[in-house]
Amino acid sequence: MDRAVLVIYTGGTIGSVQTVAGGLAPLDFSEIHRHVPELVQDHLTIEAVSFEPPIDSSNIGVAHWVELARLIQSRYDEFDGFVVLHGTDTLAYTASALSFMLEGLHKPVILTGSQLPIGLPRTDGRENLLSAVEIASTQRLEAPIIQEVAVYFGSSLYRGNRTHKASAESMQAIISPNLPPLAEAGVDIQFNAAILFRDPLMQLKVQEAMESRIAWLPLFPGQSNEILKRILDWPNLSGLVLSTYGSGNAPTNAELKALLSEANKRGVSLVNVSQCSHGAVHPERYATAHMLRDCGVIPGGDMTTEAAITKLMHCLGQELDGDDLRNAMRTNLRGEITKFSPVAPVR
Ligand code: ASP
Repeated sequence: MDRAVLVIYTGGTIGSVQTVAGGLAPLDFSEIHRHVPELVQDHLTIEAVSFEPPIDSSNIGVAHWVELARLIQSRYDEFDGFVVLHGTDTLAYTASALSFMLEGLHKPVILTGSQLPIGLPRTDGRENLLSAVEIASTQRLEAPIIQEVAVYFGSSLYRGNRTHKASAESMQAIISPNLPPLAEAGVDIQFNAAILFRDPLMQLKVQEAMESRIAWLPLFPGQSNEILKRILDWPNLSGLVLSTYGSGNAPTNAELKALLSEANKRGVSLVNVSQCSHGAVHPERYATAHMLRDCGVIPGGDMTTEAAITKLMHCLGQELDGDDLRNAMRTNLRGEITKFSPVAPVR
């Protein structure tokens, strides 16, 4: 069966090759087959397009996410799958954002990148690209096996909105702390069928609106309330993600409580995620978490910070507020959050 994959190069380390003089030069992605000849396969058509100019992923923003989502939508019927080549620095944010923007997705959108340029002998980019393309073109029973936004990196395929960049050094730079891999590439690519996401909505719909007037504040011992106060003084602030301790704890502090309650009353959406990369927020577990719950802070469960931030941007972009916003943030929209039993032991 013939398959077609669209490879979209946004920028990042993966897109450089060694010149004859020994230096590194950006790869011309229309020539990708020349640099990675293994991409030329019977029954597989690859088309490559590139951001013009390609960007370091530190420069990525909402406009680029919209550009990617629109590009995938406009070429959706022509291709069996999509591979997005992206710098690793903000790859987890883009994967999370795209998962919320691409509602009703039933084709694979596989993001990957590399720690070493594709033109270097020890590169991880070649394997990452080839496996991402293979996954993007894999079907079972005439339907794509992956029907969600995923990240392939270091021999594992992860749900995009569960990923986090954990290393600036390792070839296993990307992790998925709260969900096992969707697939692992060994001699064969083994898919974990039980956890693959299927969107109940059948038609692809791009939800472009993302609210940028949000903030993120990690707590640390000895932190002055002045920081929170200054953030909340922003009159246009729509939402705030708090990164709290352990299972969602914050200091017992009357001023902090007053600031958060007042912000909640004025309609700022407050979301609580854990600073720990593994585990979840349990608002009922410790007295130090009850305060946040009582101020109306929405528990973010086991969402990554990247997922919580982009989901809040998405939900506020849908103009949700009050209980609708609270419910949407706690609902599993694209596999980004594990449903926990609402009653856990209070210690
Ligand atoms: N700074 C680069 C980027 O994120 C690093 C990489 O390509 O992995 O675009």
